[in-house]
Amino acid sequence: MASEEPSPIENMRTQMDRAQEYAGVDQNVFERMKHPERTLEVSVPILLDDGEERVFRGYRCQFDGGRGPYKGGVRYHPSVTMEEVTALAGWMSWKNALVDLPYGGAKGGIAVETKELSRDETKRLTRRYTEGIRRMIGPQTDIPAPDMNTNPQTMAWMMDTYSVYEGHTVPQVVTGKPVEIGGTPGRVEATGRGVGIVTEQLFEHLDNSIDGATVAIQGFGNVGAWAARLLAQAGAKVVAVSDITTGLYDPDGLDVIGLAEYAGEGGALADYGGPQAEAIGNEALLTLDVDVVIPAAVANVITTEIAEDLQANVVVEAANGPTTTAADDVLIERDVPVVPDILANTGGVIVSYLEWVQNTQEYAWTLEEVNAELERRLVGTFDEVIGAYTDREIPDLRTAAFSIAIDRCARAHSYRGLFP
Ligand code: GLU
Repeated sequence: MASEEPSPIENMRTQMDRAQEYAGVDQNVFERMKHPERTLEVSVPILLDDGEERVFRGYRCQFDGGRGPYKGGVRYHPSVTMEEVTALAGWMSWKNALVDLPYGGAKGGIAVETKELSRDETKRLTRRYTEGIRRMIGPQTDIPAPDMNTNPQTMAWMMDTYSVYEGHTVPQVVTGKPVEIGGTPGRVEATGRGVGIVTEQLFEHLDNSIDGATVAIQGFGNVGAWAARLLAQAGAKVVAVSDITTGLYDPDGLDVIGLAEYAGEGGALADYGGPQAEAIGNEALLTLDVDVVIPAAVANVITTEIAEDLQANVVVEAANGPTTTAADDVLIERDVPVVPDILANTGGVIVSYLEWVQNTQEYAWTLEEVNAELERRLVGTFDEVIGAYTDREIPDLRTAAFSIAIDRCARAHSYRGLFP
């Protein structure tokens, strides 16, 4: 049995191994796909506001480039290591292949607690990091985007820094930019919107209605907060949400819009002054008696213990890698469907692709066009995953999704062949 705290990269490789049986990928190509193509580690020294200097570690991993330019976010978090970034870059590769975007997968990050930095320090950190990785990224080579604790402003600084070196504005080097400088309408809420769409699709598939369904969401950053808003709009009852400071639980439903606006301005849930709700721990939230649990924070939060105690009917993975492979086994055994991260949180990168297309064509779309295209692609992929799961008698949705993704990637490698 896998150890309870597997490294994310081990987790990802086990997921690939399980899918290999159903994908039938050539063993040589498969072996190649298990290893990152390259990872850069950079030193990011910055001047702090008090005149001191501090050095941070930054990374960018390009995992698989068989299907096109590398694509994936940049996260700022104390847990960032080369290994974590590598696993996340792998997941990006399979995510992009699953939704059939013409991209490979990448991920970057800096080990930093952003709450300890001022806005100016964060700007200097971002610019210095961008300089560090700028020979690796580019509109045709590797296109970063936001991830944990990075946002449109971070992307604006990255775009500007890259453009300064190029001598002209290059909007399509990053996605998730503010709309004023080439961002697309709909990108900020895209991941949360996608989580809402796949949740609704799953309910439909199970012959249930989202109307009145109870939802608990762990993590109330951009993704969690938008998922909460959009699910509430679709008729679901969001009864519990949490951030790093606390969880809030109200069986009658929380004031999701008020909470999302408050959190959007940087407010901690522990200090929320709005309608009162019961305080609840992060683990208790995951095992609440609700219809849907949505982990939207960090990796490895659904362990075997949580999986055994889980009362929800379905899990929708808004975070990357929230379920350990050992916990996956428990949930398969217990017949609890899990919509895997590489399907559930793909809305963000789908709209990133639409932003990049608009930048490349120098033609802007409307919000309605973006949302319609997001929904079309996500619903099509959801149906494809359900189709594989049913037709090939695959035990779970994750393995079904991975089998489609690695098969698509392997075909690209087979056609391109091995160099030299
Ligand atoms: N960071 C997001 C993810 O994990 C978005 C990546 C992108 O838009 O390139 O999917």
